[in-house]
Amino acid sequence: MKIAETIQEVREQVKEWKKQGLSVGLVPTMGYLHEGHKSLIDRAVKENDKVVISVFVNPMQFGPKEDLASYPRDFKRDSALCENAGAALVFHPQPEEMYHEDFSSFVDMSTLTGGLCGKSRPIHFRGVCTVVSKLFNIVMPDKAYFGQKDAQQLAVIRHMVSDLNFGIEIVGCPIIREEDGLAKSSRNTYLNEKERKAALILSKSLQKGKALIDAGEEDVEKIKQTITEKLESEPLAKIDYVEVVDWNTLEPVEKVEGPVLVAIAVYIGKTRLIDNFIQE
Ligand code: AMP
Repeated sequence: MKIAETIQEVREQVKEWKKQGLSVGLVPTMGYLHEGHKSLIDRAVKENDKVVISVFVNPMQFGPKEDLASYPRDFKRDSALCENAGAALVFHPQPEEMYHEDFSSFVDMSTLTGGLCGKSRPIHFRGVCTVVSKLFNIVMPDKAYFGQKDAQQLAVIRHMVSDLNFGIEIVGCPIIREEDGLAKSSRNTYLNEKERKAALILSKSLQKGKALIDAGEEDVEKIKQTITEKLESEPLAKIDYVEVVDWNTLEPVEKVEGPVLVAIAVYIGKTRLIDNFIQE
């Protein structure tokens, strides 16, 4: 497996593969890889001749008060995981390689990004869309893999690819969880023992909401109330949002009719965690 730190190295390698008629899959990540990332890599390895993993903590998608500096990093472990999983190339650029001094072009979406995580993280999706566009232009993959863990991100990327005609197939992958139900996340490492236990309230409250919908409840206010009450039963949890939105437009709905995304963001201590489910 090759490790590239420059855009030119990636371009040259991909050009070589394309000349040989090989298909290329891309898995964009911020590193500190876990089983959730691995499920994306495994799928990409199955579906493509060559797989590129990007490991880049993208400064542009972090707000000024967010955890850019403390975001966990362990590139040695990440590259070993990628190699064992069968990746062909890991792209690990420094921020200066991605953003030169006079960088001034952005990809900004006027729909889909205002609600949910976009509300409390106003510049986040501009950073995500910009870096993912750059990665798409650098790697020019046939397919790119994103987790449903970040459901709004998945919807935003699909929309961006359609708007800007990237010609890349976006593959959405299911949420991978710890045995007790907590969605795997690089940010789970921030949790101390007490907080780790308290964090279970996210998946538990969503399970309660799902059970209600499965039993036939269509009233979104009632569903949100049930989830909110369960979350509030945990003293360490502070709700950022509990939302039920149309899975295609991400607009709030009043009734569960078509496919909906039920999504929550909750602080456990200082750590902001997200979780969701899609009701088809
Ligand atoms: P990140 O490194 O957090 O930016 O995540 C990189 C990709 O892995 C994104 O597409 C995430 O949605 C996906 N991902 C992260 N955690 C999980 C998980 N628990 N299950 C499935 N995909 C995940």
